[in-house]
Amino acid sequence: MEPKYIFITGGVVSSLGKGLTAASLGTLLENRGLTVSMLKLDPYINVDPGTMSPFQHGEVYVTDDGAETDLDLGHYYRFTNAKLGAFSNATTGQIYENVIKKERRGDFLGATVQVIPHITNEIKRRIEVCTQVQECDVLLCEIGGTIGDIESLPFLEAIRQFRYERPKQCLNLHLTYVPYIKAAGEVKTKPTQHSVQTLRNIGIIPDMILCRSEKSLTREIKDKISLFCSVPKEAVFDEPDVETTIYEVPLMLHKEGVDAMICEHLGLDGKIKDLNEWKSIVESIKHPKGEIHLGIVGKYLQHKDAYKSVFEALQHAAISHGYKLHIKSIESDGINKENVDETLVNLDGILVPGGFGERGFEGKILAAKYCRENNIPYFGLCLGLQVMVVEFARHVCNMKDANSTEIDKQTTHPVISLLEEQREIESLGGTMRLGAFDCTLTPNTKAHLAYKQDHIQERHRHRYELNNKYKSQLEAKGMIFSGKNEEQNLSEIIELKEHPWMLGVQFHPEFKSKPIHPHPLFKQFIKAVINAKSLCK
Ligand code: GLN
Repeated sequence: MEPKYIFITGGVVSSLGKGLTAASLGTLLENRGLTVSMLKLDPYINVDPGTMSPFQHGEVYVTDDGAETDLDLGHYYRFTNAKLGAFSNATTGQIYENVIKKERRGDFLGATVQVIPHITNEIKRRIEVCTQVQECDVLLCEIGGTIGDIESLPFLEAIRQFRYERPKQCLNLHLTYVPYIKAAGEVKTKPTQHSVQTLRNIGIIPDMILCRSEKSLTREIKDKISLFCSVPKEAVFDEPDVETTIYEVPLMLHKEGVDAMICEHLGLDGKIKDLNEWKSIVESIKHPKGEIHLGIVGKYLQHKDAYKSVFEALQHAAISHGYKLHIKSIESDGINKENVDETLVNLDGILVPGGFGERGFEGKILAAKYCRENNIPYFGLCLGLQVMVVEFARHVCNMKDANSTEIDKQTTHPVISLLEEQREIESLGGTMRLGAFDCTLTPNTKAHLAYKQDHIQERHRHRYELNNKYKSQLEAKGMIFSGKNEEQNLSEIIELKEHPWMLGVQFHPEFKSKPIHPHPLFKQFIKAVINAKSLCK
């Protein structure tokens, strides 16, 4: 059977949770036994988000094949079984880069290269590629940005043409916002009317409208939207804010009948299962058996999505143990010798996530020292591992100025240094050690106990690495190297012998955690946190 295509556009404002909605629809279609593929189209000109500041763009989600992609792919991973890779995220930058490359090769045989048809053809090609890489029943394609943005026009024109060429295979779903105006005591449909009007002006008529709102909408409001937007009444749905957890979204959309309407429209059928796994996740969040308090010591914490997958992975692990998780976000450049104890007191565990550059580094060192000396569980991700090594070298191995060469090039003890392969690289985009690499685990270590496997693969995004010259000195004082990439002789997991749970990983395990399959290291960390907490009582 030919694949079906669902195009998801957003109206009125950004940050409506388009990615989450697309991912939840993926869950519901898979729940009907259908296979899905997912694609995010991003209208910005960057080739990928890898070079963007976390303040601007939030987390960069890394796939197995080493692509630096939009954080919505993290939602897709957590909610579906879709295969994800470089093909799952296309930006204006990539589209133009490819068209210009072809033009330079002379592929266009003297033609004037234009937005229509050359750019739109390349966008359509990227859409089709997704259904070729992974054979699927349905491709869910999310278009970034908001209707009315100048930069998303070529993408919208491409999906208009795409549908014109395959009328029976496509569905346009528009996610919009229906605000509640407090002073008037009313919800307002006008912004939605305008956004649908703009869509219609460019030749796209939505088949379904999903209305994000604070509270549920009345039938009357939905009927009004139907009338003004020429969308059948039964195809207007509301998607109010969820009370407790985003993992409720698939259940809510299913209850509303959104997946049933999609299947009816596209002529899809499939056996519906009961979504029990998702129900039990929501139940466990609503009825926890205890609470834990964690601190995340990082530096992009004002942006709520900068460590998106880290927060989610912690949540998955807490859910699996039946605990409610409270997270205190701590800006590391605010931590100093004088306030470290009072800042971190009463926390049951600390996580230091990935990061770049000098700012806030010493605050993270103080946090690691505090955890080591007070037997508080510590989990270091990427930079968090490097911090753990520098702290240990300085304070346990007596190498007073030990450092990473990312922070201090002149240090006499470069315990963390640039990977050999990175030394000659000058440009920033896509040049780190990226994607999945093999790792062999050492028996009888916490890492091995967590994974219960000898060989694993995890995703990377970094330039610096443990300097092997210091391995024996660190080992002599109680550092255990529990995961190794044999091919390049690199230490990937490090833990402390004399500590309840102090472990760092050079990779990003958070990218591979799902609510239904929490990541083993996060699970073990949270277990250590729960144990440490009960010992304190
Ligand atoms: N800045 C460090 C490096 O490049 C860590 C990167 C990270 O935490 N993702 O190696």
